[in-house]
Amino acid sequence: MAATLEIRDLHVAVEDTKILKGVDLMVGQGEIHALMGPNGTGKSTLAYALMGHPKYDVTQGQMLFNGRDLEDLEPDERARLGLFLAFQYPVAIPGVSLANFLRSAINARLRADNPDEKGISIPKFRKMLKEKMDLLQMPHEFAGRYLNEGFSGGEKKRAEILQMAVLEPEIAVLDETDSGLDIDALRIVASGVDALAGPELGVLIITHYQRILNYIKPDHVHIMLDGRIVESGGADLAEHLEEHGYDWIRERHNGSVVE
Ligand code: ADP
Ligand code: MG
Repeated sequence: MAATLEIRDLHVAVEDTKILKGVDLMVGQGEIHALMGPNGTGKSTLAYALMGHPKYDVTQGQMLFNGRDLEDLEPDERARLGLFLAFQYPVAIPGVSLANFLRSAINARLRADNPDEKGISIPKFRKMLKEKMDLLQMPHEFAGRYLNEGFSGGEKKRAEILQMAVLEPEIAVLDETDSGLDIDALRIVASGVDALAGPELGVLIITHYQRILNYIKPDHVHIMLDGRIVESGGADLAEHLEEHGYDWIRERHNGSVVE
């Protein structure tokens, strides 16, 4: 059965301030969804809530992965179920190569399904890593680098995408924060998602700018405003945003919002 991430009437508060005020969203395996919206409307809050960040309180509603409530699961348990969240991983681990880190991550995921699992053998892992790096057109030397030590912005993105490729999640949530995301990093993310997209992967890509969508064509586009998804549509909705910005959305929905 195809995996689904279902968000139902989700309300999230940060330090007693209500940020999300009833979000409904369903992402299925094989679908690419883009979540867009002006700054400060709660897009990253949704990503943090999905990841299980302790600062983000779910006050109402549910997040379900294959029908299973995520709320009581630790971030790593969520990952082991097959939900990938790009930024839940360590910023830097001195002395650990990217390849070693990826191998432990794969083994953790295998053990979630079967506690007696011995883990992926080194030759099998090397072969898989090579295949994934070829698919993503990454130089093989990259996997030998120490995790995030001295990584440029683009290299961090490349490491994230490689991690997504080897973990083979059913659903991935990628929050592309607007600040500091240069065009190079943007292309790495976009072409990586494009290379990995297919019936086995569902993606929720969160982005402020329309331009990432020049490289990825989403099946569904959602616009968040003031903690709610106020518009959903196809790829043409993102094109409309590129042309007209967010003002028309604000005009259409402000005033109609009941606190
Ligand atoms: P977006 O990603 O759409 O730009 P965010 O989810 O980052 O929006 O932020 C939504 C609102 O929540 C903003 O007003 C922001 O200041 C507030 N917020 C988000 N995270 C925190 C936090 N950790 N502490 C305090 N306020 C926060
Ligand atoms: Mg954000």
